[in-house]
Amino acid sequence: MPTSTKLLVCHECDLISAVVVLAPGESAYCPRCEAKLIRHSGATPEQTLALTLTAAILFGIMNLFPLMALNLQQTSREATLLGAALAMWEKEMHVLSLLVMLTTLLVPALQIALEIYVTVLALRGQMSAHKLAAPILILQKIRPWSMIEVFMLGLLVSLVKLQDLAEIIIGPAFWSCAGLIVCSAVMSSMLTPRNLWLWTQRGSEHG
Ligand SMILES: [Zn+2]
Repeated sequence: MPTSTKLLVCHECDLISAVVVLAPGESAYCPRCEAKLIRHSGATPEQTLALTLTAAILFGIMNLFPLMALNLQQTSREATLLGAALAMWEKEMHVLSLLVMLTTLLVPALQIALEIYVTVLALRGQMSAHKLAAPILILQKIRPWSMIEVFMLGLLVSLVKLQDLAEIIIGPAFWSCAGLIVCSAVMSSMLTPRNLWLWTQRGSEHG
């Protein structure tokens, strides 16, 4: 662990204070207004990589397996995420179809790929400003366009509405989608600029 002190500006009152290196789980507070300045989450690049790879597997299952199956009068229909988006396209709902593909397929795929890339750079101790700037900027720009949570909410509403009309069997993609939401939330708390900075210092100490 680095032993040098750093300067931090309080986001509440602009006081500049020196912050000693924190142990995992510790937080630093502003001496004047007592606002929380930073917290050492204790997350390591290894843990983050494990989580990003889990997210990639869950994302794969979410796209390859059916979300749900409908049994109605002895006929059964399965629906995958891509299948649902393509069905919307065929029903002339082009904008909606493109939005579903963008917010639940393309953006989350790009997001997970970039998170794996940044984490692998951190693990190999190859983090430098020029390598990190572009992926982190893209990650910040696309994050609001990843709407798997909104999709899940819509899915739950449709499940409640359809349950009186047909027998519904929930598919593996549904549970993967739920797992992916939890994974993404934990990942965004681990892959913060603050943690990347800590990992850079760890890398430079080892090298
Ligand atoms: Zn303050």
